[in-house]
Amino acid sequence: MKLNYCYHTHNYRCGHAVGSFNDYIEEFEKLGYTSIGFSDHAFFPGISHKGMRGDFSEIDSYIKEFNEAKEQHKNLNLFLGFEVEYMDRYDSYYDELFTKYNFDYLIIGQHLSYNEKGEIVPYFGFNLKDNLEGIIRYKNDLIKAIRSGKFLYIAHPDIFMHSVTKITPEILDICEEIVKTAYECNVPLELNIGGTRYYNLKSQSEGTNPYPNYYFWQFALKYPIDVVVGLDVHNPLHIATSPLNLPEYFIQKFNLNLLTNQQLEQKIAKIKARYNR
Ligand SMILES: [Zn+2]
Ligand SMILES: [Zn+2]
Repeated sequence: MKLNYCYHTHNYRCGHAVGSFNDYIEEFEKLGYTSIGFSDHAFFPGISHKGMRGDFSEIDSYIKEFNEAKEQHKNLNLFLGFEVEYMDRYDSYYDELFTKYNFDYLIIGQHLSYNEKGEIVPYFGFNLKDNLEGIIRYKNDLIKAIRSGKFLYIAHPDIFMHSVTKITPEILDICEEIVKTAYECNVPLELNIGGTRYYNLKSQSEGTNPYPNYYFWQFALKYPIDVVVGLDVHNPLHIATSPLNLPEYFIQKFNLNLLTNQQLEQKIAKIKARYNR
């Protein structure tokens, strides 16, 4: 499998990735990618979370740096985005990212949530295994995001499976509900490569289920969803070493419809049109 696009790319701003826009662009270009979307962890007004995301005060310089990189690479299609967590109270902020800040797209990466004070409210984690209450909250927030129609796609929708040690009927129902909703709303789900870098070995050695996750994606046989492959790169060197045979395996096994870059660019344009852009 060969990809010519990636819409899940981080950079140094989040505090746990390395490399500037230009560092990633140069590496992507060498490997034949023609469309690159930057989706670093969103900066949220009122939330300070060092090591996870940039501070909101950096937003103008993030955009400026992107625009400078874009100016230098007119031969490529470059897109400005964020990977955001969905929270009700930020609903108008997501709109503003399109209208006020001229973002091209947003993807959902529902890692955790924050309360009104900006404190982390986790859904799951290495120290929070089989936390059904948190996983249900995760699923409910994810479904609101899918239904909103504001997001290009859902990154690693099966991320919660890394903290699941027992496959129960409740867990399978949650997997099915997410896949079914994405299918009904025509929102693509992402086969995420990042799981191979951060979770697989550890999760497997602990007997848990990493992502992409077999139990989750099997529901695509019932609901033929569209999928996107996301590299979720946090280092320019990850691009060349991303194991594309993994998403390829899932695509074949579960008969997934991998979107072309043209289809993704049409989706980006369609969401922007909602904001008259
Ligand atoms: Zn990250
Ligand atoms: Zn990511």
